[in-house]
Amino acid sequence: MARFLVTGGAGYVGSHVVLALKERGDDVVVIDDLRQGHRAAIPEGVELVVADLADRARVADVLAGWKFDGVLHFAALSLVGESMREPLRYITENLSNTLGLADAAIKAGCQRFVLSSTAALFGFPERLPIDEGCRLGPVSAYGESKLMAERGLEWAERVHGLRSASLRYFNAAGADPQGRLGEDHNPETHLIPLAINAALGLGPELTLFGTDYDTPDGTCIRDYVHVTDLADAHLRVLGVLEQGRSVRYNVGNGSGYSVREVIDTVQRVTGRPVPYRTGPRRLGDPAVLVASNTLLREETGWTPQYAALEDIVRTAYAWRAAHPHGFDDSARPVAA
Ligand code: UDP
Repeated sequence: MARFLVTGGAGYVGSHVVLALKERGDDVVVIDDLRQGHRAAIPEGVELVVADLADRARVADVLAGWKFDGVLHFAALSLVGESMREPLRYITENLSNTLGLADAAIKAGCQRFVLSSTAALFGFPERLPIDEGCRLGPVSAYGESKLMAERGLEWAERVHGLRSASLRYFNAAGADPQGRLGEDHNPETHLIPLAINAALGLGPELTLFGTDYDTPDGTCIRDYVHVTDLADAHLRVLGVLEQGRSVRYNVGNGSGYSVREVIDTVQRVTGRPVPYRTGPRRLGDPAVLVASNTLLREETGWTPQYAALEDIVRTAYAWRAAHPHGFDDSARPVAA
């Protein structure tokens, strides 16, 4: 049994990883300020420390108080649009929290660090599918903040020997197939939950951001990866880090679906129409983002179990239908 510190463990991707770690028998401590995260998303038996990562003394205390085998860092500002209105806040907060946490981990003798990174590192990609060798060129302050964080971790390895894994997520989507966890952002900005909410009458009609892209149906193509598969990638890279080297992987299904295909799938799965209107393009949206996951597969044995868009939408819909108002934070915690 190992023990891990998970920042942002009450959030969407973080909570699915916490659940996966608990299920395989690991000990988990979560740090989350609950600005975005949900108390009810933390499994039973997981210690929750409600703290802001900017509180360096508190973070150092937590790291010194337990002996951790690794840190998984999810807590971050993550809205691309917001990052273009407040670029300096995004870059400052994401970078300083990551490096402050890494520094505290090093001082506490913890040598494994996993960073939630992003496909936004690649901006408008030079080739498709996007492999790890593609040119890095973020077109948002959010992407830039994660690129800087990755670079900071490279220096932490060179000088202090901190081994890290940077996982560049494509579009995380879906929900725990057993219905224990789901996606509950406020505000919600992601396509699949917005389309489901529109179909269920729980949210406004969807606006389709651009229909004049150079794609077969004119709408953007994205690589949706199931959050449970994403969680499995984290468990596997912890094993790779144990072998003593740092890694960077693109984490996606390797296939793309258009916005119209997502709407069609949501209509099929829910049995209801998705009310939508078409709108202008969203600034900074590339036409196509699809991952090459070859390196991740070859080096970790990862294979997505919920690769079909239908499975992704079905699990997301099941959770939302059972929790129309999202997590009930006064309720009992999730049983692992
Ligand atoms: N999208 C859309 N309407 C929305 C939200 C998203 O048409 O209300 C499109 C967006 O332009 C992109 C895709 O859906 O092509 C996925 O967007 P999302 O915000 O879910 O993830 P992102 O690709 O920005 O990480």
